[in-house]
Amino acid sequence: MPYQEALEALFEAFRANGILCKWNEPLAGHTSFKIGGRAALSVWPTGRAQIILVLSLWRDFGDGCPLCVLGKGSNVLISDKGFCGLVVITTKAKRVVYEEDEVEDRDAFRRGVYCHVYTECGASLTALALACGDEDRALSGLEFAYGIPGTVGGAIVMNAGAYGSDVERVLISAEYYDLSSGEIATLMDEQMELDYRHSIFLEHPEWVVLSGVFKLSFGNGEEIRAKMRANIESRREKQPLEYPSAGSVFKRPVDNFAAKMIDTAGLKGVSVGGAQVSEKHAGFIINRDNATADDVRKLVCLVRDEVEKLYRYRLECEIRYVSDGLDGDCGWEYVE
Ligand SMILES: Cc1cc2nc3c(=O)[nH]c(=O)nc-3n(C[C@H](O)[C@H](O)[C@H](O)COP(=O)(O)OP(=O)(O)OC[C@H]3O[C@@H](n4cnc5c(N)ncnc54)[C@H](O)[C@@H]3O)c2cc1C
Repeated sequence: MPYQEALEALFEAFRANGILCKWNEPLAGHTSFKIGGRAALSVWPTGRAQIILVLSLWRDFGDGCPLCVLGKGSNVLISDKGFCGLVVITTKAKRVVYEEDEVEDRDAFRRGVYCHVYTECGASLTALALACGDEDRALSGLEFAYGIPGTVGGAIVMNAGAYGSDVERVLISAEYYDLSSGEIATLMDEQMELDYRHSIFLEHPEWVVLSGVFKLSFGNGEEIRAKMRANIESRREKQPLEYPSAGSVFKRPVDNFAAKMIDTAGLKGVSVGGAQVSEKHAGFIINRDNATADDVRKLVCLVRDEVEKLYRYRLECEIRYVSDGLDGDCGWEYVE
């Protein structure tokens, strides 16, 4: 196996520091597509400090072995060959701190307008939205995020959004670890270059998001929860949630909708192997029957080609392909 020595050194270093790690973990189980081969070595840091430790150990002992970071794997397609390096899975780093819990007079604080919510990168976005909207907190701003099945880190990187809002509207800063220098830095507001399904982190795969701070306003708990219920009902009605998928495969073109274009091209229900363009929502590709990453990639190409013939427009992929890493880089590409 390539990088065997480096991976063994990392395994020993993680074990010596009490950090959970495993050989040959099947990655399919860590993705919403339920597709993908095994990771040579996987590690589950339990908080910000352990993530920093894992990444600095990788700098010390990794010896060039590829590294990739996964949140909940809900926007990725992982190679059937798996990943030959280290996969850092962030879902156990999920501490959340509410500014109002830190102040002495909560009622006086609440008369102000906003509350800052600090969260580690592995916190579930949906769980965070729920907790913010509970009776006690009634914090408004993350209603759109309820039902997006990712982590805060993945949502920051992708600038996740839905129902007329997105991360950009509520995120005020993000802290990251730079794998190339070993330094930790914080980006504020425009520095994160948040735009439709885009952030500066997509251009810097060597930056690992450690945490983010959201600015939420105090609202009416009933209204917040009603909005979240309406959003999830609309998802259940419109999206093929009964099948594994990675959500919308393509970005929304200006002045049109990918799903509408795919539908008009007559592609609803079209399959390659076990992968199918959803009959319910043409923007989704579903894993209908033991699909492979290869099936999905071929179907993505077919859809893009057919839509291009009709519209003279090439759809851009939103989901990220994780290659096997054998070419030595971190493995991230857009699905082509
Ligand atoms: C049924 C369904 C519905 C969906 N609906 C929506 C929707 O309405 N709106 C929307 O925007 N998205 C939607 N998605 C897509 C997905 O849930 C979001 O993009 C989500 O934000 C991805 O988070 P994740 O933790 O799963 O990221 P992953 O899929 O694990 O990773 C995505 C990318 O982010 C990188 N990454 C993850 N964590 C970090 C980190 N800490 N530091 C650096 N890089 C990191 C990964 O390397 C990868 O490049 C949907 C997906 C599904 C399956």
